[in-house]
Amino acid sequence: MIEFKNVEKYYGDFHALKNINLTFKKGEVVVVIGPSGSGKSTMLRCINGLEEISEGELLIEGQNVHDKNTNINEIRKNVGMVFQHFNLYPHKTVLENIMLAPMKVLKRSKEEAQKDAEKFLEKVNMLGKKDAYPSNLSGGQQQRIAIARGLAMGPDVLLFDEPTSALDPETIEDVLDVMKKLAKEGMTMIVVTHEMGFAREVADRVIFMADGEVLEDRETIPFFENP
Ligand code: ADP
Ligand code: ADP
Repeated sequence: MIEFKNVEKYYGDFHALKNINLTFKKGEVVVVIGPSGSGKSTMLRCINGLEEISEGELLIEGQNVHDKNTNINEIRKNVGMVFQHFNLYPHKTVLENIMLAPMKVLKRSKEEAQKDAEKFLEKVNMLGKKDAYPSNLSGGQQQRIAIARGLAMGPDVLLFDEPTSALDPETIEDVLDVMKKLAKEGMTMIVVTHEMGFAREVADRVIFMADGEVLEDRETIPFFENP
């Protein structure tokens, strides 16, 4: 459903992605690993149009993400993203944070949006905090709300950019548990993470990047048997 064809990405003179050729299939859980600065985050940001590619083609369901005629907002409805630093609205409650985009972008009624938001909060085990403000929650709780917010748009794929890197160790497992549950339910996920336990347990494939290149792209079991 997502295809990189000879993709190059430059920031000025800096060559951040080098001849990327990758396919992500529906229902796949792919973990992306590699040293800091290797282009992992750039790759995710190109998929949801936060960054433009410089050369090549990036297709989602056959549609060219970076074509002039493509409506990037349509792409973003189908491609949810969870960031390292949650990016929740601090002056809105948990419930309001999740209802906002479905009401604005998908034109859901308030009642529908609230019903959906509660359903997704239950899925991430956060329904009890629906009236809380983000600042009163732990990082792990905020991240689970960010995941619920992503789900509320009904995306075909969820991208995760180091979702547990900014968390206190004791809250990481709750976030990983939610991600494992989504993976089991068949969600298509591309996950940049250092959590090798998650990769081993959940990923169908592991991609290793270094210096803007894909050095390895293997099914999980051979990858770990053959380090
Ligand atoms: P990773 O996610 O693997 O840590 P990134 O994709 O964030 O790597 O960054 C890859 C390289 O591109 C880094 O050297 C980074 O400094 C550079 N880079 C990322 N974003 C920008 C930008 N907006 N402008 C210039 N350089 C950038
Ligand atoms: P994260 O680890 O949360 O992805 P980064 O430090 O990689 O955060 O990047 C945060 C923001 O800074 C991104 O929007 C990225 O494009 C930008 N950025 C990263 N490296 C550079 C750089 N060398 N020059 C300019 N902008 C950069």
